[in-house]
Amino acid sequence: MVRSLVDLLSQHAAHHPDRTAYRYLATGDHDGEIQEISYGRLAERSRAVAAWLQERGLAGTRAMLLYPPGLDFICGYLGCLSAGVVAVPGVPPQGRAQNHRALTRMKRLIADADAKVILGGREVITALSGLAEHLPELADITCVATEDIPDETAGSWREPELDADSVAFLQYTSGSTSAPRGVMVTHGNLLDNERVITERMGHTPDVIAEHGHEMFVSWLPVYHDMGLIGPVLNTVYLGVTATLFSPLHFLQRPERWLTAISHYRPHTSGGPNFAYELCLKHATPALLDGLDLSSWKVAFNGAEPVRAATLRRFTDTFAPAGFRRESLYPCYGLAEATLMVTGSTVHTPPTLLQASETGPHAGQSDAAAVSCGRPGPEVTVAIADPEQHEELPEGRTGEIWVRSASVAKGYWRNALATRETFRATLAGHDGRFLRTGDLGFLRDGELFITGRLKDLIVVDGRNHYPQDLELTAEMAHPALRPGCTAAFSVDGNDGGESGSGESGSGEQAVVIAEIAPDSAAEAEKIIDVVRSGIGEAHGLSVRDVVLVQPGTIPKTSSGKIQRRASRAAYLGGTLAVIPEPAVS
Ligand code: ATP
Ligand code: MG
Repeated sequence: MVRSLVDLLSQHAAHHPDRTAYRYLATGDHDGEIQEISYGRLAERSRAVAAWLQERGLAGTRAMLLYPPGLDFICGYLGCLSAGVVAVPGVPPQGRAQNHRALTRMKRLIADADAKVILGGREVITALSGLAEHLPELADITCVATEDIPDETAGSWREPELDADSVAFLQYTSGSTSAPRGVMVTHGNLLDNERVITERMGHTPDVIAEHGHEMFVSWLPVYHDMGLIGPVLNTVYLGVTATLFSPLHFLQRPERWLTAISHYRPHTSGGPNFAYELCLKHATPALLDGLDLSSWKVAFNGAEPVRAATLRRFTDTFAPAGFRRESLYPCYGLAEATLMVTGSTVHTPPTLLQASETGPHAGQSDAAAVSCGRPGPEVTVAIADPEQHEELPEGRTGEIWVRSASVAKGYWRNALATRETFRATLAGHDGRFLRTGDLGFLRDGELFITGRLKDLIVVDGRNHYPQDLELTAEMAHPALRPGCTAAFSVDGNDGGESGSGESGSGEQAVVIAEIAPDSAAEAEKIIDVVRSGIGEAHGLSVRDVVLVQPGTIPKTSSGKIQRRASRAAYLGGTLAVIPEPAVS
């Protein structure tokens, strides 16, 4: 019987030890250095890590994982699972600019997870010991570079005692709306969500055979659910092959993503909406010329709002390279449900609803709302009134509630938040529901996401979704950097640092936008254009538009806007404001 991914890994290692499990493009390019690991080696290395942990009596404790992108992370992660140690994927502190943020996040995670051991890459572990005097929280923690654990250690590995309810790992949420919380994902949750992904994405034995086991290409960070549960773990679940490279190499040259797809011909590959936008920016005739995207059947798009305009432009631009509209695959998920909740239907273009069909508050200002597809098999999605806890009829917007075997056990060491979020009851339904905190509506069984409950801006009794205001702002003036605007509301009586709007009672909207420094001279004009753009498109009079230095709007390690942190910086007067030119 299969109880966990550990059992599946053993089966694959026994049945096809030489098949490549993962290949890592060390330079981001298929013609550069490539590292590969077979199923046989993957099982051996995971068992070596597991045995090392077991020998030290660490089963049942938490291990922080701090790896640079690459194959060692996967051996470390599967090593924890194989030892019955709870893995805690973290972001390795690297690079100067990121150092402070990453260190702070790392320290918070180590303390919150109560980690007893840190597994990492050799460089990370060496760097940490160099920092030891500044990191008293590391004093009682064993650190090991797992690549230094010898293969022979695997010989003393013992199968862990696991059942479906054992916690496999803590997935920390991105921290978009509050401090990241550790979601307890069990072995049963993992297997269930891999089943959902497999079925919704059409990863059938026939399809796998047709693709010669080449199922994934991914540059997504592995310390977040989308990169880990999607490409990396679906690979071990199915016993197929994935090609991986680093997020940094993708950001440096987004066309590498498409080139890798063209070369390895996978079935499934994806990322947030911005990744598709980045490809569009780099789509030159020379790139298109050599590109063949015809193998790509599931181009998943999730984690952030999916834009109809992006889907349309991406299809138009890459159709000559063999990309098909049916491959567009909007999906929705969250760490609290392991990952996937709903997904598009394979070989079918996504459903779009024109704004006229959805009414004014459907969360999309660019003409059409995009369906994020249907719930996976044996997944219940209900739309609930967030106050009354009653189910709303089809077409009405409310909070998205989920019930399935993928819904996690709760938040680590947070009984109160667990009760509030994971144990909701809904009249007319059996069992407990997960409150996602997201707003949306169902239409013909398909889910449309409109925004987040906590981020909703309510002015004069009307709802505005921040991402709509942000998009309007970014389209109003070219000096605004795409994806670098934050909209939120403040109490009319709160003072902001520039406080130019009239104060009054009730909530008021504020927009903060990063601009290119060389546009500073035009600041006053930009503010006017943004203000009137939002006024026209949303009938909303914004209290304040603040222009700030590039790279200063708070974001998560996965690149999502932190609107509450932006609001705190606005109210606390700590924004890196680009001054309006003095009136002479
Ligand atoms: P935190 O919970 O710490 O505030 P987070 O919610 O961003 O951070 P994740 O679990 O990584 O943490 O992300 C899940 C969230 O991403 C969902 O709850 C939803 O708000 C958003 N999301 C996911 N898919 C989509 C989508 N297709 N469209 C819009 N939003 C999406
Ligand atoms: Mg969340």
